Amino acid sequence: MSQTQNVSSAASNATTDNSTALKRASNDMGWEYGILVDPTNLDKIQCKLCGKIMSSGISRLKKHIAQIKGSVSSCPNASKEDIAKCKAAIEEGSKKKKDKLQAAKEIREEVTIIEEEDGDEEVEIVERGPIL
Ligand SMILES: [Zn+2]
Repeated sequence: MSQTQNVSSAASNATTDNSTALKRASNDMGWEYGILVDPTNLDKIQCKLCGKIMSSGISRLKKHIAQIKGSVSSCPNASKEDIAKCKAAIEEGSKKKKDKLQAAKEIREEVTIIEEEDGDEEVEIVERGPIL
């Protein structure tokens, strides 16, 4: 009769997931330069170097430090070292994306070649420039 009560109390014990939200981007090197202003809004970050508050996330902060013109103003207090560090991190991020695309393309090419070998010996490779 009272067995249902046991089940519900066990379920209420599982409340250890609260901290995951704050750790979301903690492995990003950008946090070396930023402080979370509002724990309920992870995109609101204050620059440690100049005190400017940005509301567009850690990647925007890295652009701010790296002096990348366009969407954000440059940090007036960033040293050459800071700029180089953030630039490298941003470039690293976009390089990873390109590598993924390149890998996917290579796999697709391999697959087409194997399929062609099964039938005719004439393998046509499309999407390539003239071979000299
Ligand atoms: Zn700054």
